[in-house]
Amino acid sequence: MANAKQIEELKEALVVRKALITKNIEGSRESIDSLKNSECKDDYDFAEVSSDSFKEGIIANQQIKELKEIEDALKRIEKGKYGICEMCDESIAIGRLRAKPFAKFCTPCREIYEVEQQ
Ligand SMILES: [Zn+2]
Repeated sequence: MANAKQIEELKEALVVRKALITKNIEGSRESIDSLKNSECKDDYDFAEVSSDSFKEGIIANQQIKELKEIEDALKRIEKGKYGICEMCDESIAIGRLRAKPFAKFCTPCREIYEVEQQ
């Protein structure tokens, strides 16, 4: 079980990561907008722009997903439920939290969850 000091450190890591992702998402939105507003109006150029936007969109989606996980983790810290597996209520190992501070499941439950997702 993570102690108060460890949780504080992990919270700090989450807050830093959250700020970075928020900045990235805003940055990629701006670059997509600037691409859309650029001079290329004919269909061929637009297709190229779309494919770039598509790639950026995938990256942005992944980041939005991670951002949501980070926000969930911060809420769990507030509620004092951080570091507890959502599936089995066991403590999540500190090593796992250090590797992935927004982890919701302990290692065995994560494995079960991943199998179910496939
Ligand atoms: Zn578990």
